[in-house]
Order: sequence, then structure tokens, then C-alpha cells
Amino acid sequence: MKTIDPASFSVPIWILNNHIVNEKSEPIEFRNHLFLFDYLRDTSKNICAKKCAQIGGSVAENLKTFHLAKYRKIISIYTMPSDSDVEEFSKTKTDKIFQANACIRDSLKMDNVFLKQINDTFVYFKGTRSKAAPISTTADRLVHDEVDRSDLGIIDFYASRITDSNYKMTTLLSNPSVKNVGVDLAWKDSDKKEWFIKCECGEKQFLTYEDNIDEIGKRFVCRACNKTLTDEERRRGHWEPTGLYGGKWSGYHFSHLMYIRHTAEEIIEAKETKGIEYFYNFVLGEPYSAGEMTDFRQAIYDVWIPKSLDTPPFFMGVDVGKEKHWVIGSRNGIFKMGKCESREELEAIITRYNPFTVMDSGPERIWAEEFKKKFPKVNLCFYRKDKNIADMVSWGGDKGNFEDSKNWGYLWIDRNRVIDACVYDLQRGNFFFNLSREDLEKFILHCETMRRIPEDVPALHTRRYVWDSTTGVNHWFSAMYFWWLAMKHGSVKVELVSEAEGRPKSLVQITFEGQQMIDLQDLFEKNE
Ligand SMILES: [Zn+2]
Repeated sequence: MKTIDPASFSVPIWILNNHIVNEKSEPIEFRNHLFLFDYLRDTSKNICAKKCAQIGGSVAENLKTFHLAKYRKIISIYTMPSDSDVEEFSKTKTDKIFQANACIRDSLKMDNVFLKQINDTFVYFKGTRSKAAPISTTADRLVHDEVDRSDLGIIDFYASRITDSNYKMTTLLSNPSVKNVGVDLAWKDSDKKEWFIKCECGEKQFLTYEDNIDEIGKRFVCRACNKTLTDEERRRGHWEPTGLYGGKWSGYHFSHLMYIRHTAEEIIEAKETKGIEYFYNFVLGEPYSAGEMTDFRQAIYDVWIPKSLDTPPFFMGVDVGKEKHWVIGSRNGIFKMGKCESREELEAIITRYNPFTVMDSGPERIWAEEFKKKFPKVNLCFYRKDKNIADMVSWGGDKGNFEDSKNWGYLWIDRNRVIDACVYDLQRGNFFFNLSREDLEKFILHCETMRRIPEDVPALHTRRYVWDSTTGVNHWFSAMYFWWLAMKHGSVKVELVSEAEGRPKSLVQITFEGQQMIDLQDLFEKNE
């Protein structure tokens, strides 16, 4: 009887049977990456993955590309946003993986950064923003990694490269950016598979931040019974479509919520420190488009409460100009606002409430510095340029070293991300207002001048959003996010917890007959 190697037609079985290791020479395991198992087995022509950062998607896709070349002679063109992304990825990941695994190394006949030959089959790697022309050869399969940060015109061009192939396969994978762009467009025309897990109570659910994270208890909870979900319950899921049947793409959505390496605490921490846009794109694996028009009147009236918020500790935000606009609140919301011109008036308010304060550092820097000197709880705020990877806010003195201790009382913020996060909290009722109707109307007028405007960044072929005021009269709005910064800093303390990752103890041995009917649960229980 002719025996067939099951590894030849299943990527995960090939990985397990050949003890394939990752770039750190650790065995690739599926116990904690169960979600990658079925993804790698998927042989659909069109696959899209809307994903968070660092779940092993690119490494998995590289291994699949190699596997298809070796066992099915499928020629792939693998793109990344730029040539330097290709070089970086090759240096830190592919080269290390290919060299560390004999079963790959042995079939590698040519190994350049941009071109690899596996036996007699080629795999091309290419940046989309490359100065050199796109690859003119034809192929069987296109993989567009980080499509949302790629040149979409070039991506379109590559579609013509597979029209003569019998396979015509395309895979898109990316951290999403904004709605209706790149991977999100494909996702909308897919079967939208989500990772479903089951709670002890029987409730089947896929995890979302709103329903499954308890911010106070810092834990994962079942959306039905509120029980704490164990790592075991989080880990053991399965893919199930949530979209319509018959879409073009086989779609997968990956988020940190399904990956037990990320604790609830870490996920909450990311939301608090990285900004809402980053949090959506890289943690939840979702596009983020805040309404370009926020209905502030509605949002603010929705969170107006008759109950007094006048309980310490107090927090204050001050927008400095010729007139000083301020708001004061507790942990739960804002209860007093006003404006003044003289130093004495502002001092009287600070003396009365003794609030932890964030104050605009400009345009009257000397004036503000004098306040900081006199009132140690006054902190001066500076603006910093957008940068997704940096923290949304950094407080001087937090680093704990001597050099940084000189920065006590100063903070640097990424203005757009701070406003995103503050407005997000406002819209979700995470803080309240208890102001007189007259004050509330004055406050709303300042908010209503604010717009979130898309701005193209040609150099990066991408688009970002900036908050702008139509009239420049937005002082109480600014005072609100200064208050929000003070309140957040004074109320939240989160610690980073790192967890050791589990490793598989033994390899799975299966026969050809068994391969068609793998019982995942069984497989992974045996693998423990
Ligand atoms: Zn439950």
C-alpha cells in the first residue's frame, strides 16, 4: 500500500511532525495558539485575516508559503509594505527559522532576501513601496502581509499576476486601520469567523472587550453568568462564521482576547496607555473610526446626573489663555466650571479644593511655571507628535531615575489620542456631569466646535485623524481633557504582569486515515 505523508498536505501536522522551531528556536506549539491550527489548515482560495499585533500570523504565513512551495509547487509572491520591512522580517524571522529547521534548509536551493528557491519552486518577497518595478513574473498565490500599510495601487497590480494560474490564491493579513480600507473591506465580504469559547454555564460566546472584560476586577468574565473565565476556557475555542454564507473570503479575526498570553490586566493597561486607535488596531484587531462628527450635545446630556459629584479627591483641568478656563471634578465626573483672568481668582479656587491639576503649559509658560512652584499638585502639560508605538501620555518622574526626577510635575501627551480616549469615555458614560443647565450649555458650545478630521500622510501612504476646532473657541473642551488626564493619573494604578508560556510535551503522531478526522480536543489533550 502506498503511504502518504500526512505532513505533505497539512501545514500544522507538518510543523508538529518535523518539530519545527520558531526564530527563537522554540518549538512551534498550538496548545496556546489553537486558533492558528485551523487557520493554517484552510485551503480556501481567498483568505483574509484581520488581526492584532504579535500573534504569530506572519511567521505562520511564511511557513505555509514554504510548505505550499515544497509539497504543491505553488509559486507565491509575498508582499510587505516596504523593502525595508522585507529585509527586517527576513533578518529577524524567516532566515532564522529557515536555518534552524533542517527539513526546510534541505530544500532551500537559493536563499536571498527577496527571492527564495524551494527545490524548483520560487517564492518572491517584495515591498509594495519599492523603487524597483513590481514583479513581472506570474505566480499561483499572492500573500499581502500588512495590507493596510501597503501601497494599495501596487496590491491591485499584483492581482493580474495570478490570472493564468490554476490555483489563483490570495491571502490578505493585516492589523486593520480604519473602516472600509484594506483588510476590513475583505472582511466585510467574508464569512467573518470568530473564535467561540464556552463557559462552564454553557454560554457559547466570542470574546469582546465590552462584554468580557471586567475593568474593576481586572478579569475575563462570561457575558452570561459573570463568572471569571479561566485560561483553559479562553484557550479552548473553535472558529465559527458570524457572517453570511457565500462571501468571497474565508475570514478570520484575531485579537489579544483569545490569546491567553495576554492577561485582562495587560489588555486594560494597553487601553489606558496606548490610545484608543492603537488599542483597536493592534490589541482588538479592529478598525477604528470615531465618528468624524460626534454629537456632543447628546453625549453630554446622556451623562448628566442630578446626583452631587462633589466628593474628594478633586481633579482640575485648566486651559490657559488670556482667560483661564477650568473644570473641577471628582473621580466620577465634572461638577464645577468657570473662567477667570487674574491669578488671584484661580489661586482662590485651587486653595479651596486642593485638586490634583493638569494645566496647559503654553501659551503662558512663565505664568504656569509660577503656579506649579506655588502649588505642588499642579502639573504642566506639553504636546508631543503622533506616534502609534509611544505611550499616549508620559508623566515626568515615572521612570524612577535621577535624570527623570527633574521632570516631576510635567507631562507630555499625544493630543489626538488623548482626545480620542477622553471622548470614548464620555460616549460610553465612563464619567458624568453635574453642572447647572446654564453652565452645561456653555460647556457644550465649546465641545461642538470640535471635529475629528482625516488627514492623508502621503509619505506613509496612510491616513490619520486629527482633532480640530472650527472656531478655536474650545477652551472648556480642552479643560475637560486636562481634567480627564489628572483624574486618570490620580485614580489608576496598573501593574504589568508577564506570564510564562506553556510548551508542548510531546509530538502528535497520526496516520493518514486519521488525518481527515482530527478531533482537535483529543489532539490537544494528548499534547499536554
Ligand atoms: Zn457563564
